[in-house]
Amino acid sequence: MSTAQDAKPFPPVERQLIVFDFDWSLADQDSDRWVLEVLAPKLRKKMKDLKKDVQWTDLVAMTLKDLHELGGTREQIEEALRIMPFHPAMVRGVSALKSRGKTSFFCLSNANIIYITTILKSKGLDNLFDEIVTNPAEWDESGLLKLRRRIDPSGPQHKCKVGCSPNMCKGDELEAFLERHRPDFDRVIYVGDGSNDFCPVLRLRKQDVVFCRRYRGLHNLIEPYEKEGRLQPRVEYWTGAWEVEALLDQL
Ligand SMILES: [Mg+2]
Ligand SMILES: [Zn+2]
Repeated sequence: MSTAQDAKPFPPVERQLIVFDFDWSLADQDSDRWVLEVLAPKLRKKMKDLKKDVQWTDLVAMTLKDLHELGGTREQIEEALRIMPFHPAMVRGVSALKSRGKTSFFCLSNANIIYITTILKSKGLDNLFDEIVTNPAEWDESGLLKLRRRIDPSGPQHKCKVGCSPNMCKGDELEAFLERHRPDFDRVIYVGDGSNDFCPVLRLRKQDVVFCRRYRGLHNLIEPYEKEGRLQPRVEYWTGAWEVEALLDQL
């Protein structure tokens, strides 16, 4: 099996965009599940039991209310986020790429803005992203984290048929970002792991690249497409963040 170090060189470009999924891609865990695993395993089990029946963002919002009622505090949630696994090699890799200039950073995530910014801050990465698109959330005075879907369930819904969750179509969001940041980037790099990263990957071009984490939802969806030559972008696979660092160093 080839490794990141064996990757053939990426052609030089003037201006590139790197898009990061958050959970299990930039971060080495799933933030929604992690907070409950640290603070309230019973609610973590409830989440698992209801996953098939309740839309994910709604389910996270519901369990955050439960946690609040059980006495879980804002400080406890913030501390759980700060200790969530986040690989030092990822911090090194993105910091080095950022410092070389020429790369725009975009975070596209089904987590929420409070989780993401709290974790980034704890890693000294507050200024990494040019834009973060995710579900809105805010603390109320009582310490409850109020979470909502990015797409309000009472308004118009996205029309994606690839399998994006109702709260957000990542493909639509990527296209909207590219529209806001014209002219076209010479290269787009997409770092992802989950099945909800497949939709944006399908919208990438020949000159773009996917850094796909192995053995997770995105890998399973991409593999047959790649084998049949139905995928436009080049794909590089990785397992540990140290391998992403090696790839980032080549950009
Ligand atoms: Mg993910
Ligand atoms: Zn979609």
